[in-house]
Amino acid sequence: MRLFEAIIDANHRAVAGDKEAGLHPADYADELPVIALTCIDPRLNAFFPNVLALPADQFIWLRNAGNIIFDPMSSMTRTLALACAVKGGKEIAVIGHTDCLVGKTTTLQLLERFKELGVERHLLPENLNEFFGLFSSERQNVIKSCDIVRHSPLIGPKIPVHGLLLNIETGELDWVVNGYQTLDVLANRLNEPVGQAGSTPDLMKSLSPFHLGEMKFPEAKIGELASKAEDWLSKKTGKLGATVQEAAKDVAPVAQSAEAFAKNVAGFAEKHWPKPPEKPPKIPVPPPIRPVKRR
Ligand SMILES: [Zn+2]
Repeated sequence: MRLFEAIIDANHRAVAGDKEAGLHPADYADELPVIALTCIDPRLNAFFPNVLALPADQFIWLRNAGNIIFDPMSSMTRTLALACAVKGGKEIAVIGHTDCLVGKTTTLQLLERFKELGVERHLLPENLNEFFGLFSSERQNVIKSCDIVRHSPLIGPKIPVHGLLLNIETGELDWVVNGYQTLDVLANRLNEPVGQAGSTPDLMKSLSPFHLGEMKFPEAKIGELASKAEDWLSKKTGKLGATVQEAAKDVAPVAQSAEAFAKNVAGFAEKHWPKPPEKPPKIPVPPPIRPVKRR
């Protein structure tokens, strides 16, 4: 059983009343951490990550109103891509939920709410449904989001993209899109000899509309902040060095030895740049999925 199959299996057992239901994250080390996109609904706060039976440090949680993906190159897709590339996310799950207000709110209601907030109609985009991604079916919305992520050139064909629906009343998780199956279909089709499968060129096309050469990369790197911090430190230590040298010139004719200077620098760094504690704080063992009583 693969990770999300085990998650759903454990979830169903928990919902059915099995108090021992859960999974051993260590068994799935190669498939962790996972990235989940959910709605902003605060009722979800109590569910995650417990409902997936995953420890918090193996769970990268993204949220937006209605767990909507608008575009293969949107900011949310970019965040998903970096969550994989930088944070090592192995699988993506778009997790919708029942009773989603983004799905239930009508255009008229939305206009009224905005008016109450002082936002008049003419200040809003023409096509409200499209702009805010209002949807009528939570399942369809999850399918659509998965499809866009699956076809995003930023995500690549190695990451399974699942779609799940959480029942907010019972805590039950259900498959909407099984990302392993989609991935298998994709792999089989890519392995078919070109010419034998008429759809292969189309599939390849849909997978590679993106050319790296067309992208302009900013010169600043993601890790620039770290080097800025180093600059800051060296400036500070440089200043300290200058002060020490000045003092040495005034007070004593003896030049300060490199060793003493290094000691000063180390002392300064110690004081102004505290090291993290040697032992990392203990992460509490996550509780198993708690069954939610059916009403
Ligand atoms: Zn919602």
